[in-house]
Amino acid sequence: MVELEGKVAIVTGGARGIGAATVEALCAEGAFVFVADVLDEGETFAKQLASQGKRARFVKLDVTDESRWTEVVDDIVREFGHLDILVNNAGIGSMEDVEQESRAGWDKVIAVNQMGVWLGMKHAAPAMRASGGGSIVNVSSIFGAVGGFGGSVAYHATKGAIRLMTKNAAIRYAKEGIRVNSMHPGFIDTPMIAAIKGTPLEKTIEEKTPMGRLGTSKEIGDVIAFLCGPRASYMTGSEVYVDGGWTAA
Ligand code: NAD
Repeated sequence: MVELEGKVAIVTGGARGIGAATVEALCAEGAFVFVADVLDEGETFAKQLASQGKRARFVKLDVTDESRWTEVVDDIVREFGHLDILVNNAGIGSMEDVEQESRAGWDKVIAVNQMGVWLGMKHAAPAMRASGGGSIVNVSSIFGAVGGFGGSVAYHATKGAIRLMTKNAAIRYAKEGIRVNSMHPGFIDTPMIAAIKGTPLEKTIEEKTPMGRLGTSKEIGDVIAFLCGPRASYMTGSEVYVDGGWTAA
């Protein structure tokens, strides 16, 4: 029995990595999923899923573009009459520490990772309210809770902000049937961390992870799909860590 039959979802950054695994997990539960990304490979991915009988469609969306958010949500509501799920997953990395970070680098990371999440909630929530409720999952990180290696200052800033924006929005929408939770992955084997694969840093990460390995995108996508579904009906404002034990140490 699938849990999300009839539900309409948007997954930002859905073209690859954790976003793509989330799209697959939501499709497997019967949802119609919009793969929202700046990358055209999202179109190929959505077509592949559609050819397998899954309900998926690509939509070009830069999460920093507020007018595109308006268009995308309006188009979905016009066609389907409702929007039920938003996974704010799109994100970019940064390596620079407090002193190395540039103003331009800071602004870019804040725009995509932090402002993009706010814009997504701002535009999806009214449509969810009109549908009688919904579920939002904001993808933060273990680095939204702990200081990591002392680098990536802008990335940490955004992931910490996502954690607290999530709790704020959870309270804002608690009486309107819209649940808002944050997902905090540990190190996951995706294109985002391709640059550290095979380097000493990868070995350090594995050693620091109690389970001794990187996670897979599926291990995150499956938990996000659970958070979106009816079995998580009493969860809102929760921060869910799927990190091989990193934050337990
Ligand atoms: P990824 O680089 O493989 O995928 C990110 C996706 O976001 C890409 O498809 C990219 O095109 C899209 N994207 C980037 N900027 C965008 C924009 N402005 N508008 C729309 N789409 C945009 O990365 P991933 O590892 O799958 O990361 C997904 C999320 O998980 C990110 O928020 C990331 O910070 C978070 N995360 C990843 C890890 C990890 O170890 N991989 C750990 C913790 C948290």
